Amino acid sequence: MNRFRRSRVNILSLLCVAISFAFIQLAVAQESTTPNHRVRLVIHGGAGTITKASMTAEKEKQYYEKLTEALEAGYAVLQKHGTSLDAVETVIRILEDSPLFNAGKGAVFTHEGTNELDASIMDGKTLRAGAVAAVKHVKNPIGLARLVMEKSPHVMLVGDGAEAFGKSQGVEMVPQEYFFTQRRWDQLQTAIEKEKQDSIKKVKGTPADSAEGRHGTVGCVALDEYGNLAAGTSTGGTTNKRFGRVGDSPIIGAGTYANNATCAVSCTGDGEYFIRAVAAHSVSMLMESSGMTVQKAAEKAIETIGRIHGTGGLIALDKNGNFTMPFNTEGMYRGYIDENGKPMVKIYKE
Ligand code: ASP
Repeated sequence: MNRFRRSRVNILSLLCVAISFAFIQLAVAQESTTPNHRVRLVIHGGAGTITKASMTAEKEKQYYEKLTEALEAGYAVLQKHGTSLDAVETVIRILEDSPLFNAGKGAVFTHEGTNELDASIMDGKTLRAGAVAAVKHVKNPIGLARLVMEKSPHVMLVGDGAEAFGKSQGVEMVPQEYFFTQRRWDQLQTAIEKEKQDSIKKVKGTPADSAEGRHGTVGCVALDEYGNLAAGTSTGGTTNKRFGRVGDSPIIGAGTYANNATCAVSCTGDGEYFIRAVAAHSVSMLMESSGMTVQKAAEKAIETIGRIHGTGGLIALDKNGNFTMPFNTEGMYRGYIDENGKPMVKIYKE
């Protein structure tokens, strides 16, 4: 009898183990097939004087397609269990390789007719960051910024030094001619002409280039399935810039910021104003110290920019996946992956 009872208990425990195993298998299968709603991806392609009237149907289509491609590529990284840093870098590389944006290939020209590129990236988990400024031969400055973060003890490298570091890391270099686009060249000629006719404005200290012809900086913020935030920004700066001018994009806290405790932010607009307002960090700070939502904090940051007569916008994403994309210009190229995993792209004010 005793023996019979023992073997029944044994059979029952075996059955329990088998059932639990089946359940675990099912859970694993579900995890890898159902989309992970926790991951988030938000991008921008610059803010400025972007109106329907100034756009052709063909141009509009090109922007929609490129921004969609970047969103899909970044989302694929996150879905394949990649990190937010990988997603940010993937997205920005695609936009840097397109002549449509003021970053990488499509960078604007300096007064001297050269191209000087800036980029930065930040890891919200560790608060590590990397940035490069005024590089002239780096095909993808966002990749170099990431290497500064991961392979150097520094946060920011500039000019020739940054390029020497890039070469030591095997980064792809290109001749200056790579960055030539007729559209950006024409914008430089227009800016130089305008400057000649408007020298008083310059004396007053207003940046020579405004929202006109400058937009196209690119940025990305992401939240991965591990709950880590990251942010990145890349730009050619402002048309007709000189004297080694550097804007907010490569400055951690001004153009880019990420902190798992609060949010990830990437800005675009008149760099001088975003630096003075420490815009990206201010969003995080307002959330942390005043308990504001990411929407409210981002709105406040853009309000401050407006108050000091700056224009631009930003994208911000919090640790729970809430995001916002405020701007005080006529338009901002922007997009995100929605709840169903679909890329959504917007250009104009709604
Ligand atoms: N913020 C960039 C800069 O000032 C330009 C832009 O975002 O349009 O360099």
